[in-house]
Amino acid sequence: MDFEPSSEQQMLIDQVRRYVREEIIPLEAKLDPDASELPPEDFKRLTDKTKAMGLFGIDIPREFGGPDIDIVTRVLLAIEMAQHRAGLYVPCYGTFGGAGLAQIFEANEGQKERYLYPTLRGEKKAFFGLTEPSGGSDPARAIQTRAERRDNGWVLNGAKIFISNADRAQYGIVFARTDASKGRGGITCFIVDSDTPGFHVRRVVHTLRSSHYATELEFKDCWVSDHQVLGEVNKGFAVANDRLTRQRIPYAAGCIGVAIAAHEMAVEWAKMRSTFGEKLANRQAVQWMLVDNEIDIRTARHFTLEAAEKARRGLPFRTEAAIAKLTASEGGGRVVDRAMQIHGGMGMTKDLPLERWYREMRIRRVGEGPSEVQRMVIAREILGSNLR
Ligand SMILES: Cc1cc2nc3c(=O)[nH]c(=O)nc-3n(C[C@H](O)[C@H](O)[C@H](O)COP(=O)(O)OP(=O)(O)OC[C@H]3O[C@@H](n4cnc5c(N)ncnc54)[C@H](O)[C@@H]3O)c2cc1C
Repeated sequence: MDFEPSSEQQMLIDQVRRYVREEIIPLEAKLDPDASELPPEDFKRLTDKTKAMGLFGIDIPREFGGPDIDIVTRVLLAIEMAQHRAGLYVPCYGTFGGAGLAQIFEANEGQKERYLYPTLRGEKKAFFGLTEPSGGSDPARAIQTRAERRDNGWVLNGAKIFISNADRAQYGIVFARTDASKGRGGITCFIVDSDTPGFHVRRVVHTLRSSHYATELEFKDCWVSDHQVLGEVNKGFAVANDRLTRQRIPYAAGCIGVAIAAHEMAVEWAKMRSTFGEKLANRQAVQWMLVDNEIDIRTARHFTLEAAEKARRGLPFRTEAAIAKLTASEGGGRVVDRAMQIHGGMGMTKDLPLERWYREMRIRRVGEGPSEVQRMVIAREILGSNLR
């Protein structure tokens, strides 16, 4: 497959690159190194700019007012959007907007009015509640949160852990077991408003991530009406699974963007810095680190674009998405690590973005399915899925 950008794609890439370099990087330089949000007035100004560029909400389908950008182009743009200090979790601090949770497109008409459209306008935030203390790698088996039928609705009891953004969200998509006898065919997706009695954010869970995103949630006799079921009863797991697979592709693109930025910094540093009377760039040990960086980046870029191209053509892409996620998160982590090594002591400081990327890249080997689960998906393709 040929992944050279077309002239239209290149124009968009250049536009986003300029935006990141002229707007985001200088603004970040004035903020706390761990800041994960822009000051509200800057956020508004920059959001207006991405709207004027026609690039706001790039993952929103045209029927809902999005710019209708295909997934290959979105990957190319996400690689550019991530090339700044806070790049991994909030490309350009969220000024490109976005659909938030892909599952919400499954909403019925009433739910669209109440949740989807306000989310697309940026008026509501949502969380995705799948992982539980009993495990996240194999949620179909691990989900213990129960939803029992009562009074034209459902009563939820259980707990979730590591849920991003729930402390700031107005609602969330929560997965609960509605039929204990059916495994993955007994899980339903509910939309839960954050102010529903019986639901609360138990605590913020601190992680390597610099912002306080992960939370622990509790559901105690939390009643939700039938109108809060997203999609069909007992078909919730398919909704989760589809989202997780598709989401791995832009997730990989973010890692590649950061890896490219770290690698460029390492190349510049190696050309500029001298030790023992020679530039670092003349040392084979340093050259080989840069070579390995180049190979990790090219590998991840190739596989991520391959996964995106298959998704764009409507072909199966589960294995390709797993390979993309694996090569980008693991390879990207290695690139940042080598870039830090080449920078010596400077690489350890908060003066540079490397240490932040290092921490956040580490999370990427677990988030959206750990590396081992990606390898399991790929092994199933190689060996067949009937293995015990
Ligand atoms: C910062 C952060 C934010 C998150 N945000 C969200 C969110 O918004 N919503 C949400 O639902 N979840 C979220 N998660 C949860 C994340 O998706 C899970 O942590 C992840 O899926 C792994 O689940 P677990 O932590 O329960 O690990 P477990 O499932 O207990 O697995 C532990 C480890 O065992 C190994 N392992 C597991 N299965 C296999 C296997 N088959 N073969 C070999 N080894 C295996 C892997 O190394 C794995 O890392 C977030 C996590 C973090 C850290």
